[in-house]
Amino acid sequence: MKFQPKASHFINGEYVEDTNGAPIDVIYPATGEVIARLHSATPEIVNQALNSAKSAQAKWEAMSGTERGRVLRRAADIMRERNYDLSVLETHDTGKPLQETLVADATSGADALEYFGGLAASLTGEHIPLGGGDFVYTIREALGVCVGIGAWNYPTQIACWKGAPALACGNTMVFKPSETTPLSALQVAEILIEAGAPKGVYNVVQGYGDVGASLVTDPRVAKVSLTGSVPTGRKVYAAAADGMKHVTMELGGKSPMIVFDDADVENAVSGAILGNFYSSGQVCSNGTRVFVQKGIKEQFLARLSERLATAKIGDPLDEEVNFGPMVSENQMNIALGYIEKGRAEGARLVYGGERIDGDGFYMQPTVFADVTDDMTIAREEIFGPVMSVLDFDTEEEVMARANDTEFGLAAGVFTNDLTRAHRIVAGFEAGTCYINTYNLAPVEAPFGGSKMSGVGRENSKLAINHFSEMKTVYVSMNDVEAPY
Ligand code: NDP
Repeated sequence: MKFQPKASHFINGEYVEDTNGAPIDVIYPATGEVIARLHSATPEIVNQALNSAKSAQAKWEAMSGTERGRVLRRAADIMRERNYDLSVLETHDTGKPLQETLVADATSGADALEYFGGLAASLTGEHIPLGGGDFVYTIREALGVCVGIGAWNYPTQIACWKGAPALACGNTMVFKPSETTPLSALQVAEILIEAGAPKGVYNVVQGYGDVGASLVTDPRVAKVSLTGSVPTGRKVYAAAADGMKHVTMELGGKSPMIVFDDADVENAVSGAILGNFYSSGQVCSNGTRVFVQKGIKEQFLARLSERLATAKIGDPLDEEVNFGPMVSENQMNIALGYIEKGRAEGARLVYGGERIDGDGFYMQPTVFADVTDDMTIAREEIFGPVMSVLDFDTEEEVMARANDTEFGLAAGVFTNDLTRAHRIVAGFEAGTCYINTYNLAPVEAPFGGSKMSGVGRENSKLAINHFSEMKTVYVSMNDVEAPY
């Protein structure tokens, strides 16, 4: 098979296989062809991975931040050198066009390794002077063994967004990719070893949800970072709470994008395209509820349709292609099911709406107009290329409607009115907001959600606080006064 790895799991610096685990067929979404067969981790494999992470941790943490950072930065360099091959692999795993994977997957993983590698040497506590000469100092310590559990849309990026800050802080990691896209995390693990990471610092085990669940509840684990849906997040958060473990939850969304009459329409259409159809719409922060002020609605829809007609749908390995298949047949069917609901509930289909014939899991980019707040397509996360356009009249009205959702991952506004832009983002109930752009997630900026969309933040200096904790040391320079 074309992309068969040496073995399913990567533990203690080596590939490990156990064919007793349930088979996982990796399917190339563009053709339906099986490109690799892996096996889900058995309890024995999970145990090996956790033991490996546990025994490597103290030594890794004892290395200086400079040394740990050097390993991460070397890994970033290797990833960049191999960007083309890693991108081809990611395209086969996910179906995302090579045009995207070349610039958004291994490269953003490398950014995270480089950024957190750079921070590793400067992670410190602080000195807090008290009265009378006493003082407190704090020591920033690693949490221990961290578990990362990934979704299938950005497998390389997620493996690095979790691994890089965890390792920078001196933790070790057991990472479980989604079983739909298990291949690239193995490459990340291999590259880290090549870059000089000690064995056991970053381990990968494959598996379905049950493997993730067994990792979350294991007493050797100090922290769980999940990227996934809200229902899974709820389960994982609850299971982690039992052991009082630290959590980061990067979950789903139904984010609003508001386009005012005074906006630059071309930019707003670009933002709506990026925020709904990049990666065939399989992006958690997508602005899938596009509120367009009535004055420019028809102009907006006309330009959107014209530009969608120029999308190049096809073989994702062709670098001209910019719209690929869905990750799996199942995910395609879910999105097509929502399109049926949209039609049945009275939304007006203005673009797309159909599956594209062939062996691959292709569907058209789809736009509904005249969507109302109560329709299923305006309320539930679709995680596919389905945009809902809703009309609005006033700022006050749209603000309330934009926030009327259980989710709070992202939100965006397009307007040329400076004060209104800032007023709107101040009112958004969302973790990641955009003014006159959409869906950018540089490693320097915090990323994460409010409300049901998550807990904690990835990227930026803030991620350090989610992968370390402070020990407080009170130092007395005086005699101890006791009451008796
Ligand atoms: P799922 O929630 O189905 O799965 C996420 C991961 O959790 C998978 O690896 C899954 O394994 C695992 N898992 C499932 N059940 C359990 C359990 N009980 N305990 C532990 N682990 C478990 O999400 P998808 O993979 O379908 O990804 C799509 C979702 O991810 C969308 O909701 C999207 O919004 C969200 N997402 C959020 C992002 C963010 O940063 N906020 C970014 C990207 C996606 P398995 O797949 O084998 O079942």
